[in-house]
Amino acid sequence: MTAAPIDGRARAARLRAAVAREVAAFSARAGRPPGLAVVLVGEDPASSVYVRSKGKATAEAGMCGAEHRLPADTPEAELLALVDRLNADPVIDGILVQLPLPAHIDATHVTNRIDPDKDVDGFHPVNAGRLATGLPGFVPCTPLGCLMLLREARGDLSGLEAVVVGRSTIVGKPMAQLLLAESCTVTVAHSRTRDLAGHLARADIVVAAVGRARMIRGEWLKPGATVIDVGINRTEAGLVGDVDFPSASAVAGAITPVPGGVGPMTIACLLRNTLVSAGRREGVAIDETGF
Ligand code: NAP
Repeated sequence: MTAAPIDGRARAARLRAAVAREVAAFSARAGRPPGLAVVLVGEDPASSVYVRSKGKATAEAGMCGAEHRLPADTPEAELLALVDRLNADPVIDGILVQLPLPAHIDATHVTNRIDPDKDVDGFHPVNAGRLATGLPGFVPCTPLGCLMLLREARGDLSGLEAVVVGRSTIVGKPMAQLLLAESCTVTVAHSRTRDLAGHLARADIVVAAVGRARMIRGEWLKPGATVIDVGINRTEAGLVGDVDFPSASAVAGAITPVPGGVGPMTIACLLRNTLVSAGRREGVAIDETGF
């Protein structure tokens, strides 16, 4: 078997186009575009690249992007004061503080200070609670993008066996909640899991979010499985995922490449969340067809 590629770039382009259409409709009705504030503390090169591409995508979608770049030695209190100002700003619908933060700042203090109704990253505990209890809120962008790719590849996910490898707050845990809400039977594996291969052998769906290059081997997979590879690992051979792509493609039914799979969906979902936030805050209905 040779797995069908799951084209994240194409799906993300469609999502961005649908968001841009709705942004135009929203702006006409609300008299202003949706606003996203992105805060970067310090000069971490990877974070700088992410922030720049988020700014570009925001402008391309017709939204208003406000970038706040603060020096690496900014005191935590000063960053919290900026978050307070953004929380109170009526034309800001989404606030994103780029992680990681410098060591002297407690990221939890910052995440928890963001108004949950502007928390378009979905990291605030209130939004984690809303996701766990089925209330509307904001779902973290990467697992939301993974779910969209899974729906496209498999349609109805109900009753399928899903294994999520990784239990981070940003990816693994919200991914498991989303799959549970789709009525999958969900197993969450982590570094203490015994016999990962035994769990994977039963999985119709595998989501790998570990951060270890090519760790998951094709021979561990159930033939025909749908594999979503969240991992981004820089190696001498270039960027690779957490799944060993050559051996996995020989067994899986469908698989995301790295790059070009999950990555493009993350920013597209950030735009989607910002638009949804703007619609809720202004009482403007958003047509979520294509989201
Ligand atoms: P993380 O916070 O480091 O979490 C990694 C998880 O993997 C942990 O739960 C850990 O278990 C588990 N793990 C480690 N070794 C394992 C093993 N041998 N077997 C099974 N599980 C193991 O990472 P993350 O933030 O979730 O990110 C995961 C990967 O996704 C990284 O490569 C990251 O760069 C990538 N990522 C990509 C995007 C995107 O847009 N495409 C977005 C976010 C992250 P314990 O909990 O027991 O330690």
